[in-house]
Amino acid sequence: MIYKYILLLMLNFLLLGGCNTAPPIPLAPPTEPLTLAEAAPAVEEETVIPAEPLKKVYLTFDDGPNSYYTGQILDILRDYGIKASFAVLGVNIDKNPDVLRRIMDEGHGIINHSYSHDYKRVYSSPEAFLKELERCNESIARVTGSGVKIFRAPGGPSNLNKKTLELLRQHGYISISWNVASADTDPNGVSKEQIVENVKRGILQIESLGKTPIVLMHDGTEINRSGAAPGSALANYIFNRESGVAALPEIIEFLMERNYTFAVVDENTPPAW
Ligand SMILES: [Zn+2]
Repeated sequence: MIYKYILLLMLNFLLLGGCNTAPPIPLAPPTEPLTLAEAAPAVEEETVIPAEPLKKVYLTFDDGPNSYYTGQILDILRDYGIKASFAVLGVNIDKNPDVLRRIMDEGHGIINHSYSHDYKRVYSSPEAFLKELERCNESIARVTGSGVKIFRAPGGPSNLNKKTLELLRQHGYISISWNVASADTDPNGVSKEQIVENVKRGILQIESLGKTPIVLMHDGTEINRSGAAPGSALANYIFNRESGVAALPEIIEFLMERNYTFAVVDENTPPAW
């Protein structure tokens, strides 16, 4: 723009005649409108867009590893490129060590869910509970190289008395519960649609409380799937597991649409309640 101004000055000088003794007419600086770039302040103001807080969700699958269902769940998680956590039983690890190895190799979380899940044994005393966790950790360590300190009490943490909690705390164990129940253990059988509905409703409730959802589902304990009489407990159990696997893609897509990040449980996982 300065050159244009000089050019105009020179033009003015020539037109008026360089030798004209009359005082030169003061030339107003050019008044063309400023372009947007010229109008901009020297230091651009930074526009700060507040980052949305990371919305985490924890998918958890209990009572495996299962030779039939866990693999199907892992396939779905892999297809969506997401992670989950598996609350495993020592008794099932000993039957299906390869399934636990796959859980670990694919980057999912591992939660200690006791050795036997047998309530009579697990809850017979604080020491018995601790022994169950230690025994499960021995099974985990045989496959992965080390045990885990995060545990989920069979049936939930309300089964733990003060004395047990204190003993577990002394041994560095961290309890993890859940706050969204898929209700996929309904003894009367539960459909895929009902599981999807249960989880969606639970997620919305937890969101309204401003909490991080921890979803409870089951890959299930090891069973003999053959010869289950229709309507029997075993038939309903199989039906529930199949409903859960069928429901999983819809649950994942619902969570993805709501911008959730699928996290793996660790010592920083916020308490369910
Ligand atoms: Zn369980």
